[in-house]
Amino acid sequence: MLEYDVAIVGGGPIGGHIASEIARKKFKVAVFEKNKEIGMPVNCAGLVTPRVFDFLDIPKDSVVQNEIKGANIHSPSGNVITIGGDKVHALVINRSKFDKEIINEAEKKGADIFVNNGVLSAQRIENHVELKTSQKQDIKCKLLIGSDGPYSKIRDRFALPEPKEFLRGIGAEITNTNLDPNFVEIFVGKNIAPGFFAWIISTNKKGTEARAGLCISQKTIHSPKQYFSNFLKSKYTHSFFEKIEITKYIAGIVPLGVLKKTFDSNVLVVGDAAAQVKPTSGGGIYAGLLCANRCSSVSIEALQKGDYTSGFLKKYQKLWSEDIGRELYLGMKFRKIYKSLSDKQFDKYIEKFRNPKISAVITKHGDIDYPSKLIKPLLKKSPSLLRLVPGAIIE
Ligand SMILES: Cc1cc2nc3c(=O)[nH]c(=O)nc-3n(C[C@H](O)[C@H](O)[C@H](O)COP(=O)(O)OP(=O)(O)OC[C@H]3O[C@@H](n4cnc5c(N)ncnc54)[C@H](O)[C@@H]3O)c2cc1C
Repeated sequence: MLEYDVAIVGGGPIGGHIASEIARKKFKVAVFEKNKEIGMPVNCAGLVTPRVFDFLDIPKDSVVQNEIKGANIHSPSGNVITIGGDKVHALVINRSKFDKEIINEAEKKGADIFVNNGVLSAQRIENHVELKTSQKQDIKCKLLIGSDGPYSKIRDRFALPEPKEFLRGIGAEITNTNLDPNFVEIFVGKNIAPGFFAWIISTNKKGTEARAGLCISQKTIHSPKQYFSNFLKSKYTHSFFEKIEITKYIAGIVPLGVLKKTFDSNVLVVGDAAAQVKPTSGGGIYAGLLCANRCSSVSIEALQKGDYTSGFLKKYQKLWSEDIGRELYLGMKFRKIYKSLSDKQFDKYIEKFRNPKISAVITKHGDIDYPSKLIKPLLKKSPSLLRLVPGAIIE
């Protein structure tokens, strides 16, 4: 039996980052990834804020493909508002390389990385956990970290709560596009992406290559594939997509609605496994890494103290909730309102946001990672937006 201080299930960016942080302190760490290759298959649009790189020791230039200064938001009837344009608000990353760099860093710091080696079962025995893997290894660890994505087996195995919602995502890598590389194009409306939105993001500085995609709610009239096919052919995307070629399809799940409990004795769940994802954008890399830092520091403290009880590990829940719990909670409140809007209402509000004074407020205060920061300045400028805002924020 192989023995580790910490076993991490899932070699995505969140598991990889935690492995780095814990191995840095010279504890024995292993990462188990069921896929053959880290970072593959890709199921992400690859848009992150620059602050993501503050967490990581990886060469930024090798993974950043493009810089984004603003967004054009398209209403269901084809009206467009432009926000930002003033500075770099987001970066487009090569997600496969990003995951690989994070894992390489963990390996450099001393973590053992096992690929093509899924965790099949986990059992708590006295004060440790025993795992069985698909390569027939028996593993014993003091702490088990589930960073195994939206449908986390570790979350289920230890009877932790489920996310509230699972969005279905689909997209593609495209060449021969005709885009302004500085702006992402966002499309809302029930016929385009019911329950969420569609996007086009230039992945190079010429606007000739892109990632396009959409997410939709769990229950919709058509399949994700059908919505995506309609989106590519839509009259609103025609000018960007006239002669495109699709080089690769992507698909994935976005879990929303954080868990009330993300720990148990000897066990922590993190990242998509804990639905630490922004409900307004579906972005999980920033929120996941923020929570990964808390997961790492509490794990290190537990190892130093030899205390793996749920009484001690609940500190992780407290810390990540203080960092981003309120933002994610408010995000779900907004999501409820967003889902209830008809296309007519989308048109009406987007028309309101076309007012240069309002779009200037969005440009100044908008923050993809902390969208709730926008509410107070927006309400000050346009009090009639009050009916769109959940009560909690104005308290
Ligand atoms: C269509 C789409 C677009 C997105 N776009 C963005 C974006 O632009 N920006 C952003 O910030 N976020 C985006 N996200 C979300 C982002 O991809 C996730 O939040 C992020 O990948 C979470 O990282 P993670 O490490 O928690 O999980 P994952 O990246 O899902 O990694 C989990 C890993 O665990 C492995 N695994 C699962 N079960 C086992 C097992 N039993 N044994 C071993 N290994 C296992 C999986 O193979 C996987 O490699 C998008 C998601 C989708 C679906």
